[in-house]
Amino acid sequence: MKHILPFFILIGTISIYGQTLTEEAYKDIEPKVIEWRRHFHENPELSNREFKTAAKVAAHLRALGLDVQTGVAHTGVVGLLHGDMPGKVIALRADMDALPVSERNDLPFKSTVTATFLGTETGVMHACGHDAHTAILMGVAEVLSKNKDKIKGTVKFIFQPAEETAPPGEEGGSRLMIKEGVLDNPKVDAIFGLHIRSGVPVGEIHYKPGGAMAAVERFVIEVNGKQTHGSEPWNGIDPILISAKIIDGLQTIVSRESELINEAAVISVGKITSGVRFNIIPESAELIGTVRTLDPKMKSHIIRRMTEMTETIAKAYGGTASISFSNETAITYNDHQLVAAMLPSLKKVAGDAHVQQIKAETIGEDFSYFQELVPGFYFYLGGMAKGSTQAFPHHTPDFYIDESGLLLGVKAFTQITMDYLNH
Ligand SMILES: [Zn+2]
Ligand SMILES: [Zn+2]
Repeated sequence: MKHILPFFILIGTISIYGQTLTEEAYKDIEPKVIEWRRHFHENPELSNREFKTAAKVAAHLRALGLDVQTGVAHTGVVGLLHGDMPGKVIALRADMDALPVSERNDLPFKSTVTATFLGTETGVMHACGHDAHTAILMGVAEVLSKNKDKIKGTVKFIFQPAEETAPPGEEGGSRLMIKEGVLDNPKVDAIFGLHIRSGVPVGEIHYKPGGAMAAVERFVIEVNGKQTHGSEPWNGIDPILISAKIIDGLQTIVSRESELINEAAVISVGKITSGVRFNIIPESAELIGTVRTLDPKMKSHIIRRMTEMTETIAKAYGGTASISFSNETAITYNDHQLVAAMLPSLKKVAGDAHVQQIKAETIGEDFSYFQELVPGFYFYLGGMAKGSTQAFPHHTPDFYIDESGLLLGVKAFTQITMDYLNH
């Protein structure tokens, strides 16, 4: 709570701080946001292929009079809104891509789109709710552009492609946007993002300060032994036995070395490949798995120890092994001070009782790469119909979002922007 104190002291000196737009300012936007969201839902596009989505976004931003840049990280769109007074630069981000999932919902705007994904024909569906994110941010751009006179600073609207990861062999997502300079010119001071959630009731906002979602690492371990007849193991070096010892050893890094009372950590081996038949001890084995961490120090410890353990265990049994990591997302790390400063904004629009702190999660989100470079706050927005108790998970054919939750997303981003820039 102590972080909030200086925030209130400012109210007396900067009269504009804390200005809350009246319901009137939002009156016309809800039906538009719903219409846009339905359009995107019916016309989903896969990662790095968001051509029509991007064109619609860019046309909207141009019509509002924003400075618009297209083709950022393939299909990304960046819009700049200059307030009437100079000040800080805030970035708001929405992701635009859909997934190779065939929709099973019976909706008038159900997706019947198909595409080729990794050589296979598949249905395409907004099964993660990025259609809602895109529509919400278009709504925010419209509301804020009509209230430029109340804005001190610049708002950068980032419509991002390929959050669900780019197709193999392609770059994409937030990392490519950053590489292409999305956080510069003008330099972003803070960034905000949200994710609608099928299982959170409409009207609720959830958040977690610090590590909110995990850094995702994919690892591959190559174990080398010496092939021999299965009846004479003493003539060879068994890579399958070494693999078993390595898996066992890796789990002790989590259970014995990681301070789990601070944050969670997960190491999972998801695939083992080795051998051809019952009576041959093979030459090699391959293990593939994932590491999930929520704290930067724990992450570097775990990665260092996984490397040591893999190499030394293999050596102890006469073989060799190497491990390689590829980073899929960073830690979605919500800056503590920024969260404390912006919580009142979320409470203003949702009501105190509807803004709730939740536990960290071991899934990943590529918004995290922005947060490695500028303070950021990523929160969750309710999308489950009032009265429902069960929802289909994201990324499934029955995934469903209740549209009545979208307006709160518009209000949350708008209020955050007004308060951040004006305090
Ligand atoms: Zn997703
Ligand atoms: Zn998503």
